[in-house]
Amino acid sequence: QAKSRGRNRYSHYLPCLTTAARERFELERSLRRAIAQEELSLVFQPLVELPAQRVVGAEVLLRWHSAEHGDVSPVRFIPLAEDSGLIVPIGAWVLHQACRQGRLWLDQGLPLETLAVNLSPVQFMHHDVVALVREALAHSGFPAHALELEITEGALVQQVARATDTLKALCDMGVRVSVDDFGTGYSSLAYLRRFALHKLKIDRSFMQGVPVERAESGLVQGILDLGHKLGMCVLAEGVEQQAQLDWLVAAGCDQIQGYLISRPLPAQDYVEWWTARLSELRAD
Ligand code: C2E
Ligand code: MG
Ligand code: MG
Ligand code: MG
Repeated sequence: QAKSRGRNRYSHYLPCLTTAARERFELERSLRRAIAQEELSLVFQPLVELPAQRVVGAEVLLRWHSAEHGDVSPVRFIPLAEDSGLIVPIGAWVLHQACRQGRLWLDQGLPLETLAVNLSPVQFMHHDVVALVREALAHSGFPAHALELEITEGALVQQVARATDTLKALCDMGVRVSVDDFGTGYSSLAYLRRFALHKLKIDRSFMQGVPVERAESGLVQGILDLGHKLGMCVLAEGVEQQAQLDWLVAAGCDQIQGYLISRPLPAQDYVEWWTARLSELRAD
């Protein structure tokens, strides 16, 4: 009886597995052609300095509109790109494209101080990121001091010696490095002292309870204090409500990013958004 139940379960689950596997395979096949088919694009989410809410720049986020699959979220296709190695050409494309766009904006007189680009741990650990960054800066003429690279904690603690060398080389070039999704990765904080890191980005999952939940607000306050004691800039991700912003100002948070300020925007909309904001400020 147990056996028949087992077989039953097996026949029930197998088609699901193969469907998922097939979907994954087809998604990967489409992703392989995405650059050449010009299906990838960048959007830009404003980064705002507190307390005055001055715009300092933007985080670059990748979008994929697939002819076969429609809009696919990076939450879905980035892991696929990492597993298949496609993240290497895709990540290179993002960096080159971002630097080109940044250079254009500087030439147009937009006071862009920070362009933040996400780097996959796969890129960071297994490929010559330093050469890639140097190339993207040289090709575009985008200044190193305006480029910020976002990496997750995991990328730093897996191969410490290599990470140290990479971070040192980036730092020597004048590029800043920030820790993305801070608080969701490894628990050892020793790496914060070892590496030259510019910024902590508090993961947006922590913002949900701010300011109502005492425990979560306490965690965010703790991260702010920790970052500041180490001489780092601290940014809160995923700010959606005015009450959160008010609390973060009082708590001494340096920068925020989130739907309250703006959703990620295509390049043209980003310029319009910023221009409107600058003239609003002048009118005040
Ligand atoms: P991330 O780097 O932590 O980026 C922030 C994510 O939070 C973005 O999602 C952004 O749209 C979203 N977000 C921003 N403000 C809010 C808010 O107020 N509320 C909510 N609910 N969400 C908010 P997105 O664009 O879907 O990207 C997801 C993740 O995919 C990124 O998380 C990053 O890890 C990865 N990713 C995106 N673009 C790239 C890329 O070019 N390269 C690599 N390696 N990863 C990327
Ligand atoms: Mg990021
Ligand atoms: Mg983040
Ligand atoms: Mg995040």
